[in-house]
Amino acid sequence: MPESVTRCPLCEDKRSTTFDQREFRGYQVVNKLCTNCGLVYQSPRMTESELEIFYQSEYRQVYQGSQGPSNKDLSVQKARAGALLDILREVGVDKINHFADIGSSSGLLLEEIKEEFKCQVIGIEPGEAYRVYAENRGMKVYESLESLAEAGEPAFDLISMIHVLEHIPDPVNFLKQLREKFLTSNGNILIEVPNLYAHDCFEVAHLISFSRHTLFQVMKKAGYTTIFLQPHGQPRSKLIPLYITLLAAPSEPAPDQSTVEEEQWIRLKRRTGLAHRRILERLFPRQAWLPEYRG
Ligand SMILES: [Zn+2]
Repeated sequence: MPESVTRCPLCEDKRSTTFDQREFRGYQVVNKLCTNCGLVYQSPRMTESELEIFYQSEYRQVYQGSQGPSNKDLSVQKARAGALLDILREVGVDKINHFADIGSSSGLLLEEIKEEFKCQVIGIEPGEAYRVYAENRGMKVYESLESLAEAGEPAFDLISMIHVLEHIPDPVNFLKQLREKFLTSNGNILIEVPNLYAHDCFEVAHLISFSRHTLFQVMKKAGYTTIFLQPHGQPRSKLIPLYITLLAAPSEPAPDQSTVEEEQWIRLKRRTGLAHRRILERLFPRQAWLPEYRG
């Protein structure tokens, strides 16, 4: 049975108000707005054990009607990997020795980074069909972070989580754990999430819906300094900022983690963002949604 989230996953405040309520592919999805800091999070939501079963079996079926990667899925992932490499080049990441992609899916980002940086790459992917797909293409992929930890791999100087953080029940502690156990002190973390102000985003598997502001605050609270933070539509749209990409590094010294700066006007920003999106879709349909990645 789904359980209520009693404290905000960012500021830990108990106060919230309903932000959005809808049915998503047979699931009732309710999102709350934290009235203290402005984070939007799903509550009630699946319990940890329900989530584990969901990702092992139902997730891909619910989302795309098949267990393994579809051609469209692969073409989006390939284009997305290219766009992420462009961002790494833009921010001046020119050397990587050991890279991990959490939620590595079919492994295309692993392949691109391996090719570009001639480094060791490792994936973490709970979905069996995707993991096997990547393994068959020569990638080393663990089923979970626990099995990665047990394997005793050396720390990574780049860890990516592309469309993963919004699925994690407790992102602050998850990111802290990455910083403490898996990332080198001079390493970077690369994150991409759907943008609350442009993406439909209230899906059953999305436990948190981030804005630039709340993503930045989550990183700060987890002990990271944000180096790059940008909404964009790559690879699916030239105009609609569907996603937010962030690059961050462990803060030295560890920052004051007690304060979370509040975001305001969240409902208004969401409404304005979606209205802007609808206008762009009408005026420039072929740039708003690039036909090859339309879904
Ligand atoms: Zn909060």
